[in-house]
Amino acid sequence: MTEFHSLHGPCPPIPDDLTVPQFFLDSYHTERPGRTERVPWLIEDATGRNIGYEELRLRTYALANALHGRWGINESDTVCIFSSNHVDYPVAAWASHRLGAIVSTANPNYTADELAYQLDTTKSKLLLCHPDVVDIALAAGRQSGIAADHIVLMQSLSRPSPIPFSTIDDLVSDGLKRPQCFTERRLNPGEAKTKIAFYCFSSGTTGKPKAVAIPHYAVMANVIQMANFNKVNEDYTSWEKRRFRVGDVAAAVLPFFHIYGLVINLHFLLFSGVSIVVIPKFNFLEYLKSIDKYKITHLLLVPPQAVLLCKHPATKKFNLKHVRFAMSGAAPLSAELTMQLVKVLPNATIGQGYGMTETCTTVSMVPITQHIGKLGSAGQLMPGCVARVIKSDGALAGVGEEGELVVKGPQMALRYSNNEQATKETFQDGWVRTGDEVKFDEEGNVFIVDRLKEILKVRGFQVAPAELEGHLLDHPDVADVCVVGIPDEYSGEVPLAFVTLEATTAERVKKNPAEAEKVKASISKHVSDAKIQYKWLAGGVEFLDVIPKNPSGKLLRRLLREKAKQMRGPG
Ligand code: AMP
Repeated sequence: MTEFHSLHGPCPPIPDDLTVPQFFLDSYHTERPGRTERVPWLIEDATGRNIGYEELRLRTYALANALHGRWGINESDTVCIFSSNHVDYPVAAWASHRLGAIVSTANPNYTADELAYQLDTTKSKLLLCHPDVVDIALAAGRQSGIAADHIVLMQSLSRPSPIPFSTIDDLVSDGLKRPQCFTERRLNPGEAKTKIAFYCFSSGTTGKPKAVAIPHYAVMANVIQMANFNKVNEDYTSWEKRRFRVGDVAAAVLPFFHIYGLVINLHFLLFSGVSIVVIPKFNFLEYLKSIDKYKITHLLLVPPQAVLLCKHPATKKFNLKHVRFAMSGAAPLSAELTMQLVKVLPNATIGQGYGMTETCTTVSMVPITQHIGKLGSAGQLMPGCVARVIKSDGALAGVGEEGELVVKGPQMALRYSNNEQATKETFQDGWVRTGDEVKFDEEGNVFIVDRLKEILKVRGFQVAPAELEGHLLDHPDVADVCVVGIPDEYSGEVPLAFVTLEATTAERVKKNPAEAEKVKASISKHVSDAKIQYKWLAGGVEFLDVIPKNPSGKLLRRLLREKAKQMRGPG
């Protein structure tokens, strides 16, 4: 049997009786050489305000006290955070965890319907939202039975409101004033493995987004794996010669609602003692300014940001010499782009990381022995990870052979919440089927060759064709539809809809070709009116007489993917 084991040894012990805030705020894990109260844990990008350990710990306690005192939040509840990156994001999550609640993280650009779907799926009781998106939160709350008095703002509204919302600041003051009214949720030995900390959303291999159940243990495991992987020799409590250490400064522009932002850009970097500049929205020029202003040493990227760093003329106007490390993940980074990035960031280690929501982030990343990651490779397996590569005939692949990656390790999520069928397909006896086609070379580097699963990755975000197809079938002119991705230089890929028209519409278009553009525009608008921007049909709409299917009615996506490529060219 050929299994690929991590070359970086087993994973060091992971606490199995701590919650995430106990691990990050209460245990010896917070101590790092050189980490004094003067070294900020977080820095607010816009104001330069520093937030240290004591402040985070106190705010977490006070918010927990108020959440329990006012709404009785406890063990059986889910709290949804609907916000762009914010310095109180970890406070909001950890306060909920102290009460035993689960935290569901939602994309702040969602439409009301998309948010309502997430609130319903996770049975959320309370919504912590950014004031910029309070109207969407109110609309979604109305659909999902969350009243306005169960919506808390991350910070004050900049306009008057007829609804007297509380802010996190208000709740922190309240929580400090009232006597402690909650009992901290403590775990029995082993319980961290099953106690859920987060619901993050992912479509998996097919279908609509699902709530991935991530236990406290998985978050701590991936953080410890990353810490152990990114140092030379010694055990993971030694802090010399690390890639990530006290005194380093990282930008956090990857969204905290997504697993890559949440576990790596936030939790792992906090664990490492790196100061994190919290950036709410990605704006390339502002991003460059922040890198310059805060002398950022570490960049965690998605490929579109790497494209901008390499191709945007503004990059040359900034000094990026202090950047020591840049890693791209969430979608493939080409060898060409990697080489261009090496020129733009002359003093940085450059490489890729690979992972998914279901694997509670990192499965592999560029090892510390490679200054520039092996071109096209997504690095090497995390400590304690085992991989199987299953060929199309079901046999296990050896070195150099391609097949579906199936992985096991302490960081794996447990299941899709309330979805037995999808859980069975993806989570199998501790192994996770990734739906990605990969191969290993003889040095243990993994290469992501293709995606076997249906999802598209647009700017690093998942788009489920099934979700768009279901929605498009509600359009009166659409009889049948298949959504595929077409390559795009900036976004990686964008969705294109192949549509078979209803008979009367088809007749109308045939008689008057000018009608075709109108119908296409109306179909595109049907998506852009209801869905978040990265799901829009930026690849366009194409008409077909029939959507090709196999005899059992399954869409022949690969065929249409090829057709789209021929029609549109490579980018
Ligand atoms: P998500 O759950 O949104 O993080 O999406 C996970 C998926 O993103 C993986 O299954 C891959 O298809 C893709 N992905 C993540 N990292 C990489 C990478 N370095 N190269 C290619 N694809 C990647």
